[in-house]
Amino acid sequence: MHQRQPRSFDPPRQPDGHRLPVSAYYGRHVLDLIKLKERLPRETYQALLATLRHAAPLTRECAETIASVAREWATSHGATHFTHWFQPMTGLTAEKHDSFIDLNVTMSGEAKVLERFSGAQLMQSEPDASSFPSGGMRSTFEARGYTAWDPSSPMFLVESINGRTLCVPSVFVSYHGESLDHKTPLLRSLEALGRHAVPFLKLMGDVDVHSVGATLGCEQEYFLVDRDHHALRPDLVLCDRTLLGAASARGQQFEDHYFGSIPPRVLAFMEELEFELHRLGIPVKTRHNEVAPMQFEMAPIFEDVNLANDHNALSMDIARKVALRHDFVCVFHEKPFARLNGSGKHCNWSLVTDRGENLLDPGRTPHQNLRFLAFMAVCLKAVHDHADAIRFSVAAANNDLRLGANEAPPAIISVFVGELLTRIIDRIAAGVTGEDPEHFVMEIGVGRLPQLARDNTDRNRTSPFAFTGNKFEFRAVGSSANCAGPMTMLLAAVADALRVMTPRLEAKIASGTGRDQAVLDLLREVFTETAAVRFEGNGYSNDWKKEAARRGLPDLKDTPASIAALAAPERTAFLRELGIFSDRELASRFSVALERYVKTVTLEAETLVEVLSTHVIPAGEKQLTASSLALRGAPDGVAGLDRRVKAVAAALTEALAGCDRLKELLDGTASMHDEPALAAHLAAVMRPAMDAARDAADRLEHVVDHELWSLPKYREMLFVR
Ligand code: ADP
Ligand code: MG
Repeated sequence: MHQRQPRSFDPPRQPDGHRLPVSAYYGRHVLDLIKLKERLPRETYQALLATLRHAAPLTRECAETIASVAREWATSHGATHFTHWFQPMTGLTAEKHDSFIDLNVTMSGEAKVLERFSGAQLMQSEPDASSFPSGGMRSTFEARGYTAWDPSSPMFLVESINGRTLCVPSVFVSYHGESLDHKTPLLRSLEALGRHAVPFLKLMGDVDVHSVGATLGCEQEYFLVDRDHHALRPDLVLCDRTLLGAASARGQQFEDHYFGSIPPRVLAFMEELEFELHRLGIPVKTRHNEVAPMQFEMAPIFEDVNLANDHNALSMDIARKVALRHDFVCVFHEKPFARLNGSGKHCNWSLVTDRGENLLDPGRTPHQNLRFLAFMAVCLKAVHDHADAIRFSVAAANNDLRLGANEAPPAIISVFVGELLTRIIDRIAAGVTGEDPEHFVMEIGVGRLPQLARDNTDRNRTSPFAFTGNKFEFRAVGSSANCAGPMTMLLAAVADALRVMTPRLEAKIASGTGRDQAVLDLLREVFTETAAVRFEGNGYSNDWKKEAARRGLPDLKDTPASIAALAAPERTAFLRELGIFSDRELASRFSVALERYVKTVTLEAETLVEVLSTHVIPAGEKQLTASSLALRGAPDGVAGLDRRVKAVAAALTEALAGCDRLKELLDGTASMHDEPALAAHLAAVMRPAMDAARDAADRLEHVVDHELWSLPKYREMLFVR
């Protein structure tokens, strides 16, 4: 393959030819509040703000006015179509386009085309739900699903080569109002968070807080694979990962890729991607090489969690499209290449009040520090009490290949808080807070907590859940995941911890304990109850596995295990009680997760059989023939040729056996109808059988003539310049 050149694009320029600064076009393709304020009548704008602040329903007239403004704005930017844009449980985003055109037929029968976008079309659409995963919630007679505009996320324009489409961020629910998407539960858990955080804060003396939300900034990792290489690998095309491939002699051992100079072709892709994202009002800020060759990362400035999640889903979609223009395929799979680092999506998150105060920021005053410690306790309790639910929220066939693979956090969910905070927490838990609470609070307030940020610069990369100075970083999330899943679960767990802690604090205050002392008493209890979940050591080590077992922390190795762990209704009761998921919705989430797991592993096994049968084994046969011929033709025998024939024969024999074994297993699974049992069987038997077959194929790759090997090799795919 000839070397491709970096591809330029045509960003807007200043008269002297330099690119315009980002601020000149940032958000140009978003119908944000500033643009709406300029275009809407005052009352309509006020009504929209009321909807955003207090979830007041929008009237029909308001919806009409907003729709008409949206249509005008969109068509003036060249849009011909609109779509409700939503996030079904496929893990991808979904859209169904409708043109703005409408026919106006006069009394005399003349038809005239005009552009129209009604309030009803803005508010709701009705895609057929029956072709999206619902986990058994719909049957054909109730196949209808509804998408409804989520006004807290602004409308935007997506560009195609010949035009533009107005996208309306939406939730997706069934005929009976059950959630069929990732966004609805997230909005519900945000609501539950506010409902339980505000009373807690008021008890602590923060009487001016009216609502509490969450912020999210996700570091998105991905691989780039040249389009030509990608097309020649059936495993990448069908499964988004390589199912075999011998390790390249050069991998990541030189540690020279991370933060290295970005290859020019890749930089050109990033520049165009960032341009597109900035126009969409997505504040992407950081770009760099990651640890594995051809692995990269992008990270935005954090935003409100709902918006940040929409923006992440949209960024992935746009990245895929822009990559193709640069003859790359952007791979978001968690483990596209064995023996190299996989990709995650570190979710940095925090809790924030309507006054913009970060509740996980130690702050400057003693009160802020006490509040900070209280929310630290809330988060520890959340993770301690619901580690299994949080583990489930990141479980998927892809991520199973990454978690615990010595490059990503283990499947055990623990929390890292850093040395200084550990000392403070241990001291509070031990009850040594000094004689009077005022003094202790003053002491930690003035002297110590501001050092936290520094303390955490040297942080523990092996923890799935790390406190990093003024936010938590949840690192177990997979790169291809929709972050609404894990964020929903985290915020629900936080809401649940608050729900439990508020009455406890109330009781202490009611019994006459001073407020600060009451908080410290509660902290002592909670820090003690949750001590098991705190871990500062090496999360990759085997000792930790043993220690975690001793502490009784769940170690849920794979998706089937993480689903099974939530089978007992009391493990998910908090989700029902907080109104995040109904029974039916929960059952449907588990069913979708199981089904996706089964389909993914089955597809991988089928694809591996095909690649073995049609690429690997035929190459082995040809090599065997050639090597045997050479051996026979060599007059006095060439030293080593017989060994080579044996090596080819041995690897080929094993590849054949591995392939047969996979076929036999696939035949067996076809008659298994109990999904949980099938999923567990795939994890315990099929995946190891795939590894064994792969092993043989990889050995064969090392002894087969390069000309006979039809699959692009790791070294060819990973060192594109
Ligand atoms: P790292 O060193 O891990 O790359 P950074 O400090 O660069 O960490 O931040 C990573 C991400 O965390 C960014 O997206 C950043 O905007 C986000 N972030 C920072 N503060 C917060 C916060 N309070 N809430 C949520 N995300 C945050
Ligand atoms: Mg990070």
